[in-house]
Amino acid sequence: MNYQPDTKGFYGDFGGAFIPELLYPNVEFLRKHYLEIIGSESFQKEFNSLLQDFAGRPTPLYFAKRLSEKYNTNVFLKREDLNHTGAHKINNTIGQILLAQRLGKKRIIAETGAGQHGVATATVTALMGLQCVVYMGKVDMERQAPNVARMQMLGAEVRPALSGSQTLKDATNEAIRDWINHPEDTYYLIGSVVGPHPYPDMVARFQSVISEEMKQQLQEKTGRDYPDKIIACVGGGSNAAGAFYHYLDNKKVELIAVEAEGLGLKSGHTAATTQTGSEGIIHGSRTLLMQNEEGQITEPYSISAGLDYPGIGPLHAHLFKSGRGRFMGATDQEALNAAYELTRLEGIIPALESAHALAALGKIELTKDENVVVNLSGRGDKDLQAYIKNLSDFEKD
Ligand SMILES: *Cc1c(COP(=O)(O)O)cnc(C)c1O
Repeated sequence: MNYQPDTKGFYGDFGGAFIPELLYPNVEFLRKHYLEIIGSESFQKEFNSLLQDFAGRPTPLYFAKRLSEKYNTNVFLKREDLNHTGAHKINNTIGQILLAQRLGKKRIIAETGAGQHGVATATVTALMGLQCVVYMGKVDMERQAPNVARMQMLGAEVRPALSGSQTLKDATNEAIRDWINHPEDTYYLIGSVVGPHPYPDMVARFQSVISEEMKQQLQEKTGRDYPDKIIACVGGGSNAAGAFYHYLDNKKVELIAVEAEGLGLKSGHTAATTQTGSEGIIHGSRTLLMQNEEGQITEPYSISAGLDYPGIGPLHAHLFKSGRGRFMGATDQEALNAAYELTRLEGIIPALESAHALAALGKIELTKDENVVVNLSGRGDKDLQAYIKNLSDFEKD
């Protein structure tokens, strides 16, 4: 079994580049150059230096003592929440902005749903002094006004997507249209392991710093460079891809991916792609997605904006279908409970997305001699309103 994409970008049955003809030159240009550029010594030097001094890496691997006692196992938290801008997304945007620079691009476009990727993108374009346009559904702009303000403060132009349901998939369409119209000077910066090849592979490589650090940190803390289990939440799948990356071929490590079940699998308000989706094409790649019988994408729902995506990246579709990954879900309520629990046991307020990964601890069999890493993808400051709103329910229980 091979978990790297082939030359056409396929992970088993999934991946590839299903794009309009007009986009072909852009994507082909990127495909031809990305490996050579990323692999060069000068790129690696600048990437690593920014990860360290701008993003704040390496992030700690923290042994969560009280959480471990509660679940009768050894839980380590990979603290991606301590990155600059509060999540793992900055690893990818730093990588792609350096690539865009080396490709001679002067203008950066991106789409964003909740605004997290838009903020991470606007952050690195400010850092590099590049022009930035972020497409965002009009409805999302209203729901996520603080992130719109952040992007604007960072110097980005936020353009509302007015078509369809005025959410993420409409913003994606606008971004693709923009790229087709500006092939020369513009770089399209995608925020997860999704999109046409080479994006899923490229983003996974940039996020792989997570498991690269984990290997060394586990060696120091446990005398072994791999854990028994790694748990990560999956929206598009980039933090999970980064946390799994260096263990994909190590079968001793169980890879656990947690999707957002929202209000429940049968409620019609869910974002659990592997459990409710089917094979098809979304965002330029063949993968699993949530769609109706006519192949129309169904609107996903999750309390956490970052998991509110109707597909998963092709690597994850492959991990699911091949059985290499164990996929499960957590509901809004389970995620909220896990977030309150972590806060009270460890003094860490997690992002709602990461809380889905934490919720898995209560749903799997664990033993005392096991080492489990939970990828804490982000911090919860942005979710405080949801936490405050639901806290009284938690206190009553
Ligand atoms: C965006 C986001 C996610 C989901 O994106 P992936 O590509 O699946 O990692 C998860 N956690 C946090 C904190 C996020 O901001």
